[in-house]
Formats: sequence, structure tokens, C-alpha cells
Amino acid sequence: MRDKEPDQSEHHDAIVVGAGVVGCAVAAALAKRGIRPLVIDKLPGAGYGSTSSSSAVIRFGYSTEAGVAMAWEGHLWWRDWAEVIAPAEPEALAEFVNYPMLMLDFEGGRVDRVLPHYDRLGVPYERLDRDALLARHPFLDLHRFGPPVPMDDEAFWRDPDTLLRGAISTPDSGFISDPMLAAQNLAAVAVVHGAEFMFRTEIVGIRSERGRVSGVRLSDGTVLSSPIVVNVAGPHSSIVNEMAGVRSSMNITTRPLRREVFVVPAAEGVDFDGAGVMIGDEDTGVYFRPERGNNVLIGSTEPACDELDWVRDPDEYRTTLTEDEYQLLVLRCARRIPSLGVPQQKRGVVDLYDVADDWTPIYDRSDLPGFYMAVGTSGNQFKNAPIAGHCMAELIEAVEGGRDHDSDPVVVTGPYSGMAIDMATFSRNRVVADSSTMTVLG
Ligand SMILES: Cc1cc2nc3c(=O)[nH]c(=O)nc-3n(C[C@H](O)[C@H](O)[C@H](O)COP(=O)(O)OP(=O)(O)OC[C@H]3O[C@@H](n4cnc5c(N)ncnc54)[C@H](O)[C@@H]3O)c2cc1C
Repeated sequence: MRDKEPDQSEHHDAIVVGAGVVGCAVAAALAKRGIRPLVIDKLPGAGYGSTSSSSAVIRFGYSTEAGVAMAWEGHLWWRDWAEVIAPAEPEALAEFVNYPMLMLDFEGGRVDRVLPHYDRLGVPYERLDRDALLARHPFLDLHRFGPPVPMDDEAFWRDPDTLLRGAISTPDSGFISDPMLAAQNLAAVAVVHGAEFMFRTEIVGIRSERGRVSGVRLSDGTVLSSPIVVNVAGPHSSIVNEMAGVRSSMNITTRPLRREVFVVPAAEGVDFDGAGVMIGDEDTGVYFRPERGNNVLIGSTEPACDELDWVRDPDEYRTTLTEDEYQLLVLRCARRIPSLGVPQQKRGVVDLYDVADDWTPIYDRSDLPGFYMAVGTSGNQFKNAPIAGHCMAELIEAVEGGRDHDSDPVVVTGPYSGMAIDMATFSRNRVVADSSTMTVLG
């Protein structure tokens, strides 16, 4: 199909590719600065992509200091959500549901790597010994079960004979009740500040002229022009980077990974709503959190023994839950919560992560001037979406104002926490960090 000639009325300050929670946050932050973006998404509304399946856990335990700073800053935005969304007044607001997050303490665990960041940044935490843990969460089994193994390995069923040392609890953690609604809230504030949204519209090309991005081409051949294009395409991010011709110039790349998350009822008599807790449990290989109605939501922490389901085409993958993964994740979780059953009827979601080589996002410019990206969110950036939008807008303004972010990286000061977020951590050209868990835990 031939391109339609761009029409002057179709010129935009910026074009954002993707209306997920991160795309909407970028759009809102740009619009607040007077850079009025057009947000384009092929789906019918904001947050319909991978955002809609998010477990939306808000926690702080990342392997880099900038990661921890961003997550701490980010949670303050969720806590002040009505203010963040003002002056928009949507009918409903996403809700922050507060639960403590535990990082289990055992030989070879993450505690020693993460606590120095908490100490330096002043993130509040408590050290709990086994007695304190059981007093608060009596349904937990505090044995050591790991390292995780596949279900057909006899070690899976072995009776454990050692105990965890205890855990680190961050009492300010939680989850967001409705991730799609959160994206829609951000879209509403973007619109109030002059952003426009175009749904059911697919971008099939990124255009450039004289060495700079100049706009996008839609599947019907329409050309829309803009001096700034931001790739926030979620699991389609590497396809959009390829359209812009920047993929091969990046040190870190992204690719889609298929994931399943399950919801099972807590056992009768267990008050998981009331005394519930969230754990990223590398010892059993699952993360879990309360889900309203006295349920437990369970996902994987990608233990080394599990084969990962990389997807070649993010539009072509199996979207039904699988029995094997269901049994595996629920039974792993049942080691930590022995009262948990495995109901016959599977409930849950299947969706894609957009995984970066080191499971840390890329929030950066590119080698094509005017083309930016907020990608590689690696199953762990829902929590950071609002602050990531803010950071991207700061970065875009700085680079458009002439700053060479590659040699003189932008450092953003968190508006709520005052913490410094060094954007070099999220560079497309960083060297893969040894400290990364190389899993969803980041
Ligand atoms: C199962 C699951 C559990 C998760 N759990 C957590 C968690 O507990 N905590 C946490 O912090 N994070 C979690 N995450 C990660 C988090 O949800 C994502 O990082 C975040 O939602 C990504 O938002 P996004 O806007 O970048 O992408 P998306 O929401 O995927 O949005 C991208 C959009 O781009 C559009 N698009 C792509 N290509 C094109 C194109 N060519 N033309 C037009 N539109 C296009 C898509 O239609 C889509 O709507 C989880 C993710 C999943 C999948």
C-alpha cells in the first residue's frame, strides 16, 4: 500500500506508540509539560494490552539502587493517586491495597544484595525472625525447600530439614486493585492536558527524514508527522525498534516471554485477606499475593530449572492456561502455604512480558534523534509506570534541549521522595549487571 501524503493538520508534538500503563504515563507527563502527544494503540482502549493481566505488585526489592529508588518513589504516586490524576475526575480510581512484602532470608538469597540499597535510601523495613513471622502469618511453612526443581524430580517432594533464617518485611508494599483502570486514569489526565488518543489503529512504520524521526505510518497508509516518537509498545517493543532501524545499535535488546498467573482460594479458616502477605519466594520459585475474596494469586520467579517460553511473534502465542504450569506453580506455593489446595478448575491469566536481557527496563533515547523508548519492562514495571512517565518526559526535554544523555546522563529527582534516580541505569547501552537476578524480581 502506498503512503498517503501527510496533511498539516496531522502534525503532532509527539507520538506515543502504545496506550498501556507506561504509554499513558508518558503521555500524561509530556502533556503536563505542554508537549501534547497523540497516543496510538491497535487495541480498543487504554490498558488493554499486557497491562490488563498485571499482578500489579508494588514492592521495592530491586538489584540496583536506581531500581529501588524508582520503586519507592513510584509507590508514593500510587498512594496519592487522586492527586496524581487531578484535575481529571474519572468515575473510578485505581486503588492501592496495602500488604507487607517479605523477602525471605536464607543462605544465597537476595537479602544481602538488596538491604544496602534500603539502608542508603532510607526505605523502611523490619527484620523478622521465625517466631515473629509465624505470629503474623501462621499459615506459612518456614522450611527451606530450594533450590527449586521440576515436578518430576524426586527432590520436589523431599521433606525439608533446614529452616529459613527469617525475612525482611517492607510494610509499605501492596498492589493495585485494577491495573487497566490505572492506565485509564492516566489516559484521563493526559487528555485533560491536551493529549489525544487513537485506538484500533496500528502503526506499521516509523519514518525519518534527514537523520531524524519524522513520524509514523499506519496500516492504512496514513502518515502522521511528529518530531518525537516514543516506543512504549510493551511486548511489541522490539518490532517497533526494528521499524525505526535502531534495534541493532542497542547493547540491550528485548523479547516477549509468555507467562501464566493463577488464582486459587485460600484454605477455609485461613484469613489471607486479613493476615495475608506478599512474597517473592526464590526458595520455592513462585511469587504470591492476596487477591480479594480470600484468594491467593501465584506467579513464577523463573527459577533456573524452568524452561522459559520465549515467543517469536507477540501476536501468535497460546492464550489458554496449561495444566502443567498450573500444577507446578500451585504446588510450589503449597510448600510455603501447606493448607493450599489445587482446585480442578483453573483460574488465571496468560500474557506476555517484554523482557530485556538483564530484566531491567530501558528508559532511554535511541541512536535515531527524536525516537525514544520506554521498553523491556520485564514483568516488573507496572509499579513504576507513573514515575517512569515522569522520568521519560524529563529525559526527552533534556535531550531535545541539547543534552547528550549518553555521555552526561540525566538524573531525575523523585518529586515525592527527593531520591535521585540515575537514568544511566536504564540505558539501552548499559553493560548487563552482575547483580541482576535475571528474573522478574529484577
Ligand atoms: C502476567 C503479568 C504479571 C505482571 N505482574 C507485575 C507485578 O506484579 N508488578 C509489576 O510492577 N509489574 C508487573 N507486570 C509488568 C507490567 O504489567 C508491565 O511492565 C506493564 O503493564 C507494561 O506496560 P506497557 O504500557 O509498557 O505495555 P502494554 O500494556 O503491553 O501496552 C503496550 C501497548 O502497545 C500497543 N501496541 C504495540 N504495538 C503497536 C503498534 N504497532 N501499533 C499500535 N499499538 C501497538 C499494544 O496494543 C499495547 O496496548 C506484569 C506483567 C504481566 C504480563
